[in-house]
Amino acid sequence: MSNTLSDRPSAKKQSSTDSIPTLGMLDLPADLRRHLTITLGHADPATPAESETEQSYLYRALAITVRDRLVPTWQQTWKRMKQSDDRKIYYLSLEFLIGRSLTNAIQNLDLDDDVREALHNYGMHLEQIADKELDAGLGNGGLGRLAACFLDSCANLQLPVIGYGIRYEYGMFHQHIEDGRQVEDPDHWLRDGNPWEIKRAESTRRIRFYGRPETYHAPDGTLRKRLADSRDVLAVPFDMPIPGFRNETVNTLRLWKASTTDVFDLAEFNAGSYPEAVAAKNDAEQISMVLYPNDASENGKELRLKQQYFLVSASLQDVIERWVEKNGEDFTEFGLKNCFQLNDTHPACAVPELMRLLMDEHGMTWDDAWEVTTRCMAYTNHTLLPEALERWSVGLFSRLLPRLLEIIYEINARFLKLVDQQWPGDIAMRREMSLIEEGDNPHIRMAYLAIVGSFSVNGVAGLHTQLLESGLFKHFSELWPRKFNNKTNGVTQRRWLSHCNPGLRGLLDETIGEGWQTDLSKISKLAPYATDAAFQERWIAIKLENKKRLAELVAKNTDVQFDTSFLFDVQVKRIHEYKRQLLNVLHVIHLYDRIQRGETAGMVPRCVLIGGKAAPGYHVAKLIVKLINDVASVVNNDPKCKDLLRLVFFPNYRVSSMEIICPATELSEQISTAGKEASGTGNMKFMMNGALTIGTLDGANIEIRENAGEENFFLFGLDAQEVVEAKKDYRPNEIISADAEIASLMNLLESGRFNPTNPGLFDLLTGGLRSPHDPWVTIADLRSYIDAQGEVGKAYQDVSHWNQMSILNTAGSGWFSSDRTIQQYAQDIWDVRALPANG
Ligand SMILES: *Cc1c(COP(=O)(O)O)cnc(C)c1O
Repeated sequence: MSNTLSDRPSAKKQSSTDSIPTLGMLDLPADLRRHLTITLGHADPATPAESETEQSYLYRALAITVRDRLVPTWQQTWKRMKQSDDRKIYYLSLEFLIGRSLTNAIQNLDLDDDVREALHNYGMHLEQIADKELDAGLGNGGLGRLAACFLDSCANLQLPVIGYGIRYEYGMFHQHIEDGRQVEDPDHWLRDGNPWEIKRAESTRRIRFYGRPETYHAPDGTLRKRLADSRDVLAVPFDMPIPGFRNETVNTLRLWKASTTDVFDLAEFNAGSYPEAVAAKNDAEQISMVLYPNDASENGKELRLKQQYFLVSASLQDVIERWVEKNGEDFTEFGLKNCFQLNDTHPACAVPELMRLLMDEHGMTWDDAWEVTTRCMAYTNHTLLPEALERWSVGLFSRLLPRLLEIIYEINARFLKLVDQQWPGDIAMRREMSLIEEGDNPHIRMAYLAIVGSFSVNGVAGLHTQLLESGLFKHFSELWPRKFNNKTNGVTQRRWLSHCNPGLRGLLDETIGEGWQTDLSKISKLAPYATDAAFQERWIAIKLENKKRLAELVAKNTDVQFDTSFLFDVQVKRIHEYKRQLLNVLHVIHLYDRIQRGETAGMVPRCVLIGGKAAPGYHVAKLIVKLINDVASVVNNDPKCKDLLRLVFFPNYRVSSMEIICPATELSEQISTAGKEASGTGNMKFMMNGALTIGTLDGANIEIRENAGEENFFLFGLDAQEVVEAKKDYRPNEIISADAEIASLMNLLESGRFNPTNPGLFDLLTGGLRSPHDPWVTIADLRSYIDAQGEVGKAYQDVSHWNQMSILNTAGSGWFSSDRTIQQYAQDIWDVRALPANG
């Protein structure tokens, strides 16, 4: 196996081209038993396999059994890709929020029936065993999940794409709630091993940090730069399979683990410092130890920059080594045949690092290396929030990556000449566009570095791209208008509809055929059934089953009972002020306030679920979690609310919980301040599963509304332009006192009703809401939001009409498949074709 998937010279392999074993496997139940009792050395379990331990063994044995069935195709795909002369794509990302792999692989290999039969021998259901798999939580939120959906779509479309990331020992932290507050626990997801990964030690790369650049005479007589006295770390690749959907394709996600170069270092230590030398191992391995848990904010830590460079250098060296193996030292076509997609600026060091590798290690001139680099780099921007725009201190850079800094200075010098040609003598413009932000403590602007070094810059939804072109990157888009393009995000319908909503999958297959699994545009064929009473009955029954499933999960994880006859109103996403979970809470307080006053006429009973993690250092976000929990405990313990209102904070929101949450949701809360959410992808998962959206004109909500039909969407609030206007003269206190219901709910919140033993606890939040400088203008949208929620309530009472709208949302969701997004990347940016298994 290691022979065919390794990076050894290909000459040896030609003879084995057709000899990859596909047989040698027994039938699936026999293989499962063999792996359980032989591979894992476990005693044949009791039936049913009741203990945690036995189920966990069964999970591992089943995972290996399924992986066995992926490996031959995986090897074929890898070989096909190595042999092809077509362009190849590398998706560089610091995050891949994969979730679980077992059920995904079973679905894509069409093994469901076989697996269920095999587990039947142990008295187990697939769902019970699948639940033993820990999520691979190698990402924070939307950006990392997007990378995972993209890899799924690339495999489905048989595109030659490799994902490159970091194999964090600890992924996204586990969240639990104590006394209403978030507590973080480390996520040691690799503790029991990872049956999906295969280590490829033979492709280990060396990464050089610190040191000083020096000039020397290379053997070919040229003057070159190299790094003296560097401190080196090894990058060891672990490959994860990315199976396509029943298409004989298994792509690769290559994750790098940091490891010490102990062989070399130990030799240099004298016998007396042996323990210190061994301890240095930890230092090196820190680089891939833990995922930074910040979503949409940068934090400037040295270890984070190390992670970024580590990923970028290892991945570029990997690609270059395969290139040299095949093409020798001729790099003239390298830019034509390879493309690196940068998932945000996190891997933006790829620009100067590729320059360095081409010049310092492969002897190219600056001009030739620049030609190659700018032909193969493409950058995706994910946010307009200023606090998320990465800047690295020049001081830190010059210590950690001194040679890269030299290269960045040279890129900048040449770029500023171009700026001067375009805007002659305009010093302010040069200052504004410089890759270096000058000042006492100068910084490198990573987004500008990415733009200058890339041939494509894209935003992730129509509005977002417009705002990039007219705002954040205005001058760059004037300089290079053709670089800028939009690629509205998408999600994979195979995980986010087919797998997570089996009831709906069955109804769709029966009604419109199975083609939607690989071509979601076909889902529009559902529209004619929207008013069909018999079809609606089945639609309603499926939603009810899904609501029961969620109610059970809520009961298992909290002390709250959901009533499945209530409207399920859901907001799950990272906790962030711009996403405005506070606005949602204010509405819940308003409903509670009305219940206290007895104004319940026409009120629709609701279960409100809010979930998401707050960055551990983000104080305000953590206080919002506390508020949600404290309001929840008052509401849920008030007998007057019993038949009308429930509020729950769902702990430890992650991919596998979203798989239960989104099929059960009836109302999807997408209520960010307009102009702040680049796209959103949670919104798309809900829409596919028939939820109606209450939302602002932000990110992809705009496109969701267009595709669902505006009559099937609950719109409220200011648009992006109006937010800018409103901020010029924003007086939230006047809005509050002029609106009796708002004044009353604010009074309730400020009276301490929800924090009787902790006076002043939420002053920071209420003070923010009342501030004329509140960046999120929450109070400006509150009346409109409350009214829109009133419309939701009315609409929900007309069951037939509600379900008509629900069906039309699913029917309109075809545009939001990541297959569509990836086809656009493939055509407009990557210029890459499929590499079919039997083409
Ligand atoms: C889809 C998803 C997200 C992104 O949600 P948004 O609402 O777009 O912010 C975040 N986390 C998880 C676990 C997801 O599945």
